[in-house]
Amino acid sequence: MPVNDPIVAEQDAAADFTIEQKWDLYSQEEHGIWRTLYDRQMKELVGQAAPEHFRGLELLNLNEGGIPDFRRVNEKLEALTGWTVVTVPGLIPEKEFYEHLANRRFVSGRFIRDAHKLDYLPEPDIFHDVFGHVPLLTQPVFADYMQAYGQGGLRSLEFDSIKNMARLYWYTVEFGLINTPEGRRIYGAGIVSSKTESRFSLSDDSPNRIHFDLQRVMRTDYRYDDFQQTYFVIDSYDELMDATSQDFAPIYERLPTLPEYTPSSIAPEDRVYHRGTQAYALSQADAQAS
Ligand code: FE
Repeated sequence: MPVNDPIVAEQDAAADFTIEQKWDLYSQEEHGIWRTLYDRQMKELVGQAAPEHFRGLELLNLNEGGIPDFRRVNEKLEALTGWTVVTVPGLIPEKEFYEHLANRRFVSGRFIRDAHKLDYLPEPDIFHDVFGHVPLLTQPVFADYMQAYGQGGLRSLEFDSIKNMARLYWYTVEFGLINTPEGRRIYGAGIVSSKTESRFSLSDDSPNRIHFDLQRVMRTDYRYDDFQQTYFVIDSYDELMDATSQDFAPIYERLPTLPEYTPSSIAPEDRVYHRGTQAYALSQADAQAS
């Protein structure tokens, strides 16, 4: 069992659920897993990830030779956008999660996945959290969006709208696509850190690709156990920031009165880039049924 095990770590968490990274305790094997994952994803993401993602990896030197030491990452990140990365033992309650984001702190897992199960991830590890999420926090507008999301999240606690906020996070921060002059690219951390979903999200016939709309996204259920059936596309990070720069209270009040969408629905008012065949999702459902 690795030294930086999430169960062991839980016992020394502070009230805001943060723990020390204890970077010195990572083994050479664990640093090796980071390097393997990093090199593999960098090959996979050429021409697929958003340019800001590559720039962020470079600005933070996330390939310095193993699992990043947050003390060093934070020196650079804080100077760029005022964000820092803090370590938590695993998934934490919504309120504390939103509070960290609203104060420009990104929460990251401390452990790294097993060398023999590189593609199996029951909960986010440090590779997903840091390689996937942290590079875009060097980008000022996206950094502001993440803070606004945290503030909206705190507001959602007063309205019982956690579900709607989780969907917004899912379809943007985790699985978002962006149009660029060079073509469509990935900015969502869940795709960027996955070996298999990058190509699927951008070019497979199966999923829908629809232009982002805040309330549409908040009304749409998602797949948490497999590739997405719909990806939402933005034109710029400003678009995200603009959509989030408002008091969410009126939206939270209206949402329960509106119908919800399934993960594969297309609504009449959607700006559809690609109407998915859903062939992949159907084949998975068939496989499960037989
Ligand atoms: Fe994530």
